[in-house]
Amino acid sequence: MSQEIEHVQCLIIGSGPAGYTAAIYAARADLKPVMYTGMEPGGQLTQTTEVDNFPGYPSGITGPEMMEDLRKQAERFGTDIRFGYVSEVDFLSVPRKVIVDDIKTITADTVIISTGATAKWLGLPSEQKYNGFGVSACAVCDGFFFKGQDVAIVGAGDTAAEEATYLAKLCRKVYMLVRRDEFRASKAMVHRVMNTPNIEVIYNTETQEIIGNGKNVTAVRVLNNQTNEESDIPVEGFFVAIGHKPNTDIFKGWLDMDETGYLKTIPGSTKTNVEGVFAAGDVQDHYYRQAVTAAGSGCMAALDAERYLAAKEDEVKMVS
Ligand SMILES: Cc1cc2nc3c(=O)[nH]c(=O)nc-3n(C[C@H](O)[C@H](O)[C@H](O)COP(=O)(O)OP(=O)(O)OC[C@H]3O[C@@H](n4cnc5c(N)ncnc54)[C@H](O)[C@@H]3O)c2cc1C
Repeated sequence: MSQEIEHVQCLIIGSGPAGYTAAIYAARADLKPVMYTGMEPGGQLTQTTEVDNFPGYPSGITGPEMMEDLRKQAERFGTDIRFGYVSEVDFLSVPRKVIVDDIKTITADTVIISTGATAKWLGLPSEQKYNGFGVSACAVCDGFFFKGQDVAIVGAGDTAAEEATYLAKLCRKVYMLVRRDEFRASKAMVHRVMNTPNIEVIYNTETQEIIGNGKNVTAVRVLNNQTNEESDIPVEGFFVAIGHKPNTDIFKGWLDMDETGYLKTIPGSTKTNVEGVFAAGDVQDHYYRQAVTAAGSGCMAALDAERYLAAKEDEVKMVS
């Protein structure tokens, strides 16, 4: 049985701040965008409580409420928002081909990829229990809530080192828990950590459990993997900085990526190595990873898509 193929001008994959912002701009430029939300409509911010650093919300807002506002704004200008998961792509075909939920084929003149990234967690039940109540995977987002308090951060790479020094500016004391007897971070970052007086690095240490009072985190239980000794470190906040995984598996072999799977874009733009395919938000940004930067690049992607289509139209007119 042959299936009808739907054609769209602008397909947006993913419904985080990047996807919704791209949708607002694309819809207002009359590109009639169709968005597939993926399995997490609203994206990463739906996992959090307070968002205090997105401009325009002087009293703060919860992540789910903010994403609901963005969804309504995208819908207001006519974005066709659909629940569905892009399971396969064919970026050699022209127009570009995308398969949704393994069954539906869509062709698109332009594709905006905003599939985000997923924070890696330790996998402890107590970590999930206190996620948003003392446990966080983002120091820049949540460090402020622990001003003047004691926190722990787990990780040994550049990001963990960067986040530890960020937290050290806000918090009284930062315990940096490193699983091995050395860092993975660059020498420069290790130097910065070692020269921050209120960071205490604890090597050969594995997190066993996050301890709390039912409402908030009160301590972290750690194991010294050399001596097998267990101890509790009293802290109010626990930060996990063991990396993120960009949601790019379906684009492998089609788009240029760095060694960790982040999509590569042409500097100063959202263009990927495939014409008409653009990438915005955390899926192409392992460095800033903020809602406002994701939204900013979503805007860029829609403008890049609109200009790409306009240039194509000009080409057709010149030929005819
Ligand atoms: C707990 C937590 C708290 C945070 N707090 C803050 C904060 O206070 N301030 C701040 O600025 N930032 C915060 N961040 C970071 C912020 O959430 C991200 O930077 C931002 O959400 C990135 O937006 P994005 O649009 O690139 O992707 P995401 O928000 O990751 O959204 C990705 C979207 O892609 C969809 N998707 C994935 N794969 C597919 C597919 N194959 N097909 C279709 N759709 C797909 C998902 O369903 C999702 O809708 C926080 C992050 C976390 C995890």
